[in-house]
Amino acid sequence: MGYKDKQRNREYQHQWFNKKKLDSAWLEQRRQAREVWRKNNPEKVRSQRKRKYLRDIQKTGFREQENKRKQEERLKLKIEAFTHYSYGKIACACCGETEINFLSLDHIENNGAKERRQFRRGGVLFYRLLRQKDYPTGYQVLCMNCNYGKRMNNGICPHQLRK
Ligand SMILES: [Zn+2]
Ligand SMILES: [Zn+2]
Repeated sequence: MGYKDKQRNREYQHQWFNKKKLDSAWLEQRRQAREVWRKNNPEKVRSQRKRKYLRDIQKTGFREQENKRKQEERLKLKIEAFTHYSYGKIACACCGETEINFLSLDHIENNGAKERRQFRRGGVLFYRLLRQKDYPTGYQVLCMNCNYGKRMNNGICPHQLRK
């Protein structure tokens, strides 16, 4: 097939698609077929996604935009989780510190070792998982000081001993 033929073929396909895309039943069928294909070809989907990602990061500003988007998502999830675990007003459960940048989620029973291996606590995946699980019990909001104090003092923050 010569160059001209290829060109003509492409134009023909383009026209054909422009006409077809007005047909909503056909579009729906096509969407469903794609979904089935995706389910049956997870590796191909993954490699396609990776290729798209590699293409995207070549674009200027993409990385910055991605970082910003991730940061915003993390903050949103963080605020939601902290609000839940401090029952409304975000504060350290021990000393009452309210500066969100000093606060983190604490596993009350101290059995977060396995979980820590799987997720970077405080990372977006961790907050997303908590939300997916409908915020399970067993967590509290603690500030860095109280977190550290608790860890260094066999699970009880020195503040609590002073009381
Ligand atoms: Zn505290
Ligand atoms: Zn404390």
